[in-house]
Amino acid sequence: MIRIAIDGPGGAGKSSVARAVAAKMGIVYVDTGALYRTVGLYVKQCGIEPTDRERVAEALSGLTITVAYENGTQHVYMNGKDHGDAIRTPEMSMYASAVSAIPAVRAFLLETQKEIARQNSVIMDGRDIGTVILPDADVKIFMTASAECRARRRYDELCAKGADVRYEDVLREMNERDHNDANREIAPAKAAGDAILLDTTPLSFEESVDAVIALAMQTGAEV
Ligand code: C5P
Repeated sequence: MIRIAIDGPGGAGKSSVARAVAAKMGIVYVDTGALYRTVGLYVKQCGIEPTDRERVAEALSGLTITVAYENGTQHVYMNGKDHGDAIRTPEMSMYASAVSAIPAVRAFLLETQKEIARQNSVIMDGRDIGTVILPDADVKIFMTASAECRARRRYDELCAKGADVRYEDVLREMNERDHNDANREIAPAKAAGDAILLDTTPLSFEESVDAVIALAMQTGAEV
């Protein structure tokens, strides 16, 4: 079993790199942001403000989240239904960021994440994987890139999906979200003390994938 933890801010390349690494190594890619996004979508459907800690915490009793992997693709089910790309909108990014600062939400998603890593060799990406979810991961990587580079990548990704967005808005929202994630009281997005910093600003996608695989190989852990 191997457990690879990748943390870092949005747009650093965590998810696309982790997905490619998982495919090459034959392990499971766990996108933990999708879980927070799903809670965000649920909260929106309930008509609750994502910053309303009490009401969000109360609403969790009506929510069941399950995760399944089909042909290497992660599916997150909210009370039995997979909402697909509806969790990927800029609005849901902000909802996810807001609800993720609520301790009850983090507690709610904790065991689901740990259990997936107990059952599978994983590469898991998020904000607190190396610090909270997998403190004993075989390798911990804190992946980052300049804010402009990250916003450009996220902008290109959204445009490729046909979204009508402006680069300036993507950059502003990304900075806002980074600030919230890094400064919240609970599980702030920060590198674990024993994490390796990987700045992908000057790296191509393939170079980033190779760098992560090289770090994973160095651990000597078997898949
Ligand atoms: O990674 P992604 O952009 O999909 O994450 C959406 C939001 O979910 C992040 O901005 C962050 O607030 C939250 N998150 C978190 N902990 C994780 C993964 C995501 O707090 N492990």
